Amino acid sequence: MIPPHRIVARLRDMRAKTTVPLSDLVRLIAAELVSEVCSIYVNRGGDVMELAATEGLNTLAVGRTRLRVGEGIIGLCAATASVMNLPDAQNHPAFAYRPETGEEPFASMLAVPVRRSGRTLGVLAVQNRAPRHFTEDEIDELETVAMLLGELLPTAGGSDGPSEGLGGTVPRVFAGTTLMTGIAIGPIIVHGTLRTGIRLLADDPEAELSRLHETAERMQRGLDELIAGVPHATAQARRPEDVAASREVLEAYRLVAADAGWLRRVGDVIRSGLTAEAAVQRVASELHDRMRRISDPYLRERLADIEDMAERLLTALTGDSPVQAVPPGAILLARRLGPAELLDWHARGIAGVAIEEASPAGHAAIVARALDIPAVGGTRGMLDTAQPGDEAIVDGDEGQLMLRPEAELRQNYARARETRSAQHAAWGELRTRPAATADGVRIKLMLNVGLALELAQLDRTGADGIGLFRTEIAMLARGAMADVAEQASIYARALDAAGDRPVLFRTLDLGADKLLPGTVTDEENPAMGWRSIRIGLDRPALLRRQLRALLLAAGGRPLSVMFPMVATVAEFRAAKNLLVAEAKRIRPAPVSLSIGTMLEVPALMWQLKDLLREADFISVGSNDLLQFLFAADRGTPSLADRYDILSQPMFDLLEQLLNMANAANVPISLCGEAASRPLEALVLAGLGLTSLSMAASGILPVKALLAEADLGAFRPVLTAIRRGGSGAASLREPITTWARERGLPL
Ligand code: PEP
Ligand code: MG
Repeated sequence: MIPPHRIVARLRDMRAKTTVPLSDLVRLIAAELVSEVCSIYVNRGGDVMELAATEGLNTLAVGRTRLRVGEGIIGLCAATASVMNLPDAQNHPAFAYRPETGEEPFASMLAVPVRRSGRTLGVLAVQNRAPRHFTEDEIDELETVAMLLGELLPTAGGSDGPSEGLGGTVPRVFAGTTLMTGIAIGPIIVHGTLRTGIRLLADDPEAELSRLHETAERMQRGLDELIAGVPHATAQARRPEDVAASREVLEAYRLVAADAGWLRRVGDVIRSGLTAEAAVQRVASELHDRMRRISDPYLRERLADIEDMAERLLTALTGDSPVQAVPPGAILLARRLGPAELLDWHARGIAGVAIEEASPAGHAAIVARALDIPAVGGTRGMLDTAQPGDEAIVDGDEGQLMLRPEAELRQNYARARETRSAQHAAWGELRTRPAATADGVRIKLMLNVGLALELAQLDRTGADGIGLFRTEIAMLARGAMADVAEQASIYARALDAAGDRPVLFRTLDLGADKLLPGTVTDEENPAMGWRSIRIGLDRPALLRRQLRALLLAAGGRPLSVMFPMVATVAEFRAAKNLLVAEAKRIRPAPVSLSIGTMLEVPALMWQLKDLLREADFISVGSNDLLQFLFAADRGTPSLADRYDILSQPMFDLLEQLLNMANAANVPISLCGEAASRPLEALVLAGLGLTSLSMAASGILPVKALLAEADLGAFRPVLTAIRRGGSGAASLREPITTWARERGLPL
């Protein structure tokens, strides 16, 4: 075989034409790679691989020979996204005989997947009469060609036979779960594929190589600075052996960035005629494929580090290249999405979001609610089906995504969207009325906020105050910790916006899925790991800086502060002491200092007597509490509906908490996502909670329902339902029935 840069050069010539017939491509590849057969199979949607062009097999089979993903050598190559190198393909157990192809004379086969953005678009295969293993060089060359093909396929003819076009064109519905209600309709945009403008083929490999090395050095320097700026990131635990182990992790990460091995590999690919960006992408996708097959956790981690580095390098390389503009009203599709990434996308103007791996209590969902972006999660498979240029509907109410909707469906949804805005306008009237039940029980409805832009919601919703200020969100949004003065100004803005209304600040809840860039975590269960107040107490300087900023922001005003993820009274006491000590040093002192805790860890329930003596207030973080009570990861979509806050264990827990707190005269509120759902809010009020804190989108719907609910009539019903539903996983159904029968707006 010859070096692929000749193929690359020929492909460049062909690319100058607007469309490239696949038959020309296979002829070229067969000739250049000196193989008797070259065939391209393309994924026709519905998991079918179809022979789209061939040089060497019977051309009558084009458009006819089809193999399901997983069927035959081609199907296996597609299913596993891995290279098949077979000296005697026809005696391979997976071989599927297709007489129309006339492939009997060809013994050896090399098949490689054609991939783009993590999706398998097709399979490229060469065959020869002589039974032999293909060499590493030959595999490398065919993989490079396959990568180019991945970029060309959408503009290539797709098929030389009868064609139904590349990929699916039929409407598809993906059922998932609601992350944020509402409807959005628009063109799709896929997270992680913004770099569509990257050049593939290089004119001057030497120039590309120096660009690669300059950028890699710049990245390395940036990384050194980043690591130096996080002095305690190496010491994630107090035990010296843990410190040493985590330092090793960090050092390994640093080494990976400087590692000549993978950069050399990128260099080799550049020499075959690709640009630096394309070469990095190629090596990253190789790594990705390799990672999927490795079970050794240590190796997996190292490869994941390299993959991450490749991503950073790619970002650095494409820094100046034009990024794809986000079309107005675009729907973002993502496999996973962090809260900071969603913030970024929101700033670019997306109207809706669908995330394959996300659940309602995850932080991306919380940000979606804060930003009022219709969002669905758990819509698995959508990324394999979506095509560039597709339109989609996010139906946040039903928790589903509709891809390529029919015109009629689209119209229906557009109408529904209008009706919703009219309903929202009607709720507007409720804004100025205090929240109370029909029988006059006042329930304070407070806001959960994290971003400055959300402060405007205080007046827009008529909320009674801020019941949860998630201080870490602003840090995530800026991608770094703010210094004391910057923090103080962020917090002061919240106090200014709230005026006389209370603001409950929560100290940094970092860790788990809320990681600042440059933070390294190697925990198996980060939600139960080194996070929140645990970090704060182990890094008292960090926590003290924040407490100082809060005190400075308050000036002579009242200040309320609470701590997240407290598991023991001792932790609460330690955190409280830090705040009290700081408060003594700051002038003017706040007119009142109220120090409380979140209740998210069930263990606190068995320390209530002590806790209630020392805490000024308690806010139930039902998202984490539910997760830890039922040992059910709040981020796992398949568990999202399995355990319910409307269930006997949670009711009993809240009842006991309220009884003891009322006796001790300690105010209780609840600030988990459940509070923003009208039915849940009704039940929480029924249990005796008089303060609920929620995303802005929940305030008016909850207010509307409470205004029509007779709490006096509901309470005995709730008691009866609790008594009658012993052992049930959820008591939602009978409660919903009662509310529906009374025509309450759920
Ligand atoms: C909670 O756990 O309920 C909570 C409000 O905190 P967060 O969602 O930020 O973890
Ligand atoms: Mg929490």
